[in-house]
Amino acid sequence: MTTAGNPLTADWAGAFALPPFAAIAPEQFRPAFDQALAAHRAEIDAIAGDQAAPSFDNTIAALERGGRLLDRVSSVFFVLAGADTGDAIEAIERAVAPLLARHANTLYLNTALFARIDALYRPRDDLGLDPEQDRVLQRYHTRFVRAGAGLGKVAQDQLAAINERLASLGTQFGQNVLADEKSYLLVLAEGDLAGLPDFARAAARAAAVERGRPGKYAVTLARSSIETFLAFSARRDLREKAFTAWISRGENGGATDNRAVVAEMVKLRAERARLLGFGSFADYRLDDQMAKTPQAARGLLEEVWGRARAKAGRERADLQSLIAEEGGNFALAACDWRYYAEKLRKAKFDLDETAIKPYLALDNMIAAAFETARRLFGLTFTPVDLPLYHPDARAWEVKDAGGKHVGLFIGDYYARGSKHSGAWMTSLRDQEKLVNDIRPVILNVCNFSKPAKAEPALLSFEDARTLFHEFGHALHGLLSDVTYPLLAGTSVASDFVELPSQLYEHWLETPEILQTYARHYRSGEPMPAALIDKLLATRTFNQGFATVEYTAAALVDLDFHALAKADGLDVTAFERASLARIGMPAEIVMRHRIPHFQHLFSGDGYAAAYYSYLWSEVLDADAFAAFQETGDVFDSATANKLREFIYSAGNRRDPAEAYKAFRGRLPTVEALLKKRGLDDAAV
Ligand SMILES: [Zn+2]
Repeated sequence: MTTAGNPLTADWAGAFALPPFAAIAPEQFRPAFDQALAAHRAEIDAIAGDQAAPSFDNTIAALERGGRLLDRVSSVFFVLAGADTGDAIEAIERAVAPLLARHANTLYLNTALFARIDALYRPRDDLGLDPEQDRVLQRYHTRFVRAGAGLGKVAQDQLAAINERLASLGTQFGQNVLADEKSYLLVLAEGDLAGLPDFARAAARAAAVERGRPGKYAVTLARSSIETFLAFSARRDLREKAFTAWISRGENGGATDNRAVVAEMVKLRAERARLLGFGSFADYRLDDQMAKTPQAARGLLEEVWGRARAKAGRERADLQSLIAEEGGNFALAACDWRYYAEKLRKAKFDLDETAIKPYLALDNMIAAAFETARRLFGLTFTPVDLPLYHPDARAWEVKDAGGKHVGLFIGDYYARGSKHSGAWMTSLRDQEKLVNDIRPVILNVCNFSKPAKAEPALLSFEDARTLFHEFGHALHGLLSDVTYPLLAGTSVASDFVELPSQLYEHWLETPEILQTYARHYRSGEPMPAALIDKLLATRTFNQGFATVEYTAAALVDLDFHALAKADGLDVTAFERASLARIGMPAEIVMRHRIPHFQHLFSGDGYAAAYYSYLWSEVLDADAFAAFQETGDVFDSATANKLREFIYSAGNRRDPAEAYKAFRGRLPTVEALLKKRGLDDAAV
């Protein structure tokens, strides 16, 4: 093995024990991965083959102490694969992904290892464990059981075959959607552009160039392209044409039709759930979420559904009036909604995005996020000059109110060709206290437009919200205070993990933060109160529509995955029946129709879990109300509880218990309804 002198596997002795980025070359990753995987395999074998009777220390704690080299190599690799990639890194990624998948099997389908965990799990009340140790043991047991460790050889082989087939179907599903998107292009001539503002024309021109039709204008089926066109095009015939193509992705017959793929995936998921002892895939999936059961998730969705439909009905009436005022003599259709909603929005609020940006300079918004953390948690952020993986990335040392080191925060904010799209939080090192008191190194990666030299980067309000969102995740990692790595920071249920991030967005909208930090980048003047009011007033506009299209998709998702058996499923008929049952308004189409619903079928990501977004929103709205009820959005007693039970607690407790410890009760849906303008007060 050629790992001698490999900086990835050597000790990292520099400041904050950061990886020596300058010394790292792509070709060092493969040998480093090989060495790290072999080391971890040896550790697993030693634990599984231990002649001593299983104890918490020689099994669970030993597992927690293991895999350190793999953690280090993986964290550096995946930070680069996301934020500073290239052909060499991408090739390694393709090669390493199956190795890591196989490695997960050697861990979770290891019968001898599971026998030891199970032998500890059953008498766990008599082992004298502290609450955190008890939780780690339970989490290990749950993970192994959910992966199939407790099944016999035959069932395990069936499971492995199902997983493999599902993986390739998931890839095929995504590629089919992409193919339908790529093969469609609505080419427009100069005379077809009625209603399109300058930025939309420029985007249509760029889309035409990109698709080999220079000099023309074009609409593609990418959300940003089609939604802009639907919002602004005054040509009803073209809106209808484009809209029909958009909602038909994956359902056009031929080789790229996804309906058979969906039918097989739903069937296989139901079979997998049955092998693992559950009545349906939704039962299996939600058993390890905060919601726990499909009934609980459905209960929330249905509570919101009726009000959302009612509000959408009122919105529809407003849009129909607008059509009549313009002399139109037709009923509002699905392809018209965005167009008339945009007109109404402009008439009602007259909000111009370009007037807002000069008040939202990136550095001011970073300072605003830091100040929020100081007022809530006493944290301070000091810039430190460190050699990182890219010159645009910046680092701050984080300290608590007593000046004690909390961790290192790295912000990498600008878009570039080597970075994936989107925004995310990740880490180079997670917090733990098992072997040493290890403090975390946490990153936020964003894609804000890089400004010209000597100009500050100016954000949209959505960008600023993204910055606060990701910083909320970052604090979840930075404030983590657990002993066992398995429980650290953001390693919580996926319908709970968005609470710290979505909650943090609320402080951006407070006058305390906005009036102080939203200052004009040239004059330094604070954003005018009238502009702030307008900005905040648009928050509930068209939320009936948005909530209906989202909630319908989440309910249909649960319906598909609630099937105990799904042989010979007619996907179109099932989708239609499901929508008819909930009384879907004819003028709104679900946010993602089943044949192109990538959250559900391009992999397992949000299958039976699309409800999670709304579930987390209930939590964040209710949690912020805890501050509002005190009359002080920085109330220190509430902030202390938030830190203790949510931001620093990792996965130490069941999520519902953690929330109850913070709030004194489980969340109620009222604050969410108010936030979305679906409460009676907003009628
Ligand atoms: Zn998030």
